[in-house]
Amino acid sequence: MGLGLVAGLLACCVWLVKGVIEMASAVKRDGRAVVTTCGGCYADCAFAARVEDGRVAAELPVPGHPCAARALCARGRHRLAMPFDERDRIVHPMRRRADGSGFDVISWDEAFAQIAECLLGIVDGHGPRALGMTLGVPSFDRYWAYRFMHALGSPNVYGADGACEVSRLTGWEHSLGYSPASDLAHTDCIMYLGRSIVDSSTMGAVDALNDARRRGAKIIVVDPRRSGSAALADRWLRVRPGCDLALLLGIAHVLVAEDLYDHEFVDRYATGFDELAQAASAWTPEWAESMCDVPAAEIVATARDLAAAAPAAVVDAGFHGGIGIAYANSTQTARAICLVDVLLGCIGHAGGALNPPTPLSLGDLDPTRFATPPVPREPKLGSERYPLVDPVRGLCTTIGQSILAGDLRGLIVYASNPGAGYGNAQLGWVFCSSSTCL
Ligand code: SF4
Repeated sequence: MGLGLVAGLLACCVWLVKGVIEMASAVKRDGRAVVTTCGGCYADCAFAARVEDGRVAAELPVPGHPCAARALCARGRHRLAMPFDERDRIVHPMRRRADGSGFDVISWDEAFAQIAECLLGIVDGHGPRALGMTLGVPSFDRYWAYRFMHALGSPNVYGADGACEVSRLTGWEHSLGYSPASDLAHTDCIMYLGRSIVDSSTMGAVDALNDARRRGAKIIVVDPRRSGSAALADRWLRVRPGCDLALLLGIAHVLVAEDLYDHEFVDRYATGFDELAQAASAWTPEWAESMCDVPAAEIVATARDLAAAAPAAVVDAGFHGGIGIAYANSTQTARAICLVDVLLGCIGHAGGALNPPTPLSLGDLDPTRFATPPVPREPKLGSERYPLVDPVRGLCTTIGQSILAGDLRGLIVYASNPGAGYGNAQLGWVFCSSSTCL
């Protein structure tokens, strides 16, 4: 086994120690609570941190904060406790012994010096594009990760989205231009495909879903299993795994055949309706049932529910692997969601599918102290093999092939686990055995 595992351990170590530093800097010594954010996932839930019996305690909500939350979720609460429990984590840099018999603790100075020597050796010997980085949860860390790699001249920063939602995003980007967010606060009917807000989302989203139910909004959940969201749904459609696409096409058929679609919206904004109508004639509910196991009568009723509430009705765009992590038809499934939402006329409409707001601007760093490195012009390694994928995003699942091809000579594994977490599992061994990993 080569240095890949060391890279993972070092990355894990840096991440955890960083958590301690973040936590310590977030809490003033005078005992007053200081507002900060969790950073355990995209949501960045805000809380006021304060020291209580030598540990960090969180006070919520923080009124007026753009990421205000009612409570931290289980992961957020665990993350608060992590820095104070050293039993389950590594608190020093570790270096694998040359004979592979185990690891030795080394100093931070030694670790950074060796990492720097190795990184610069790769850049000098093979060019900066031979260097890559994988990221886990893309919180504010992402900002620094990009700056670091760009300073070295490498474009190869890969988020985990390539392992879970690039197929979905690609479908939306080629159909609408962006992946919309459902306006849960105003919708009268919402349909989720494989996504369970109750089991896997922020506390705020769970509140919003419950508020929608109390308002009388109809909740439709498509899921092979009885998820927490399916349990509270008005309609639970038990689809055959990987066959959501057929269900959506069946719904599109009903909307067209029963003339339930939004003519004005389609005429004004859509292209190719005549071709769609022709193709949709074959997507009967009975055909869809034969493909996806959802009874034809349920498909018809679902289409009518959505149409009755439109344009304050929406088929949710999904989130990460929410429409199937990496099925061969996931991109087409996303396109079919867009198709149904367009037929409902709900794009850009209250209660429908909205263009998500631009992320908060954090302002600029002082350029005299922190010059912004130029963004490398070359595309990320692997982009050329998947031309439909946004080359700025890249595809982390191509990393194994890039290593095997000798194009990628060094990989910084940062709070992520490519060997176990990415698709194309046959290549997982590359990350554990490659001597090119740092
Ligand atoms: S949803 Fe949970 S993990 Fe994510 S930021 Fe909020 S508390 Fe942290």
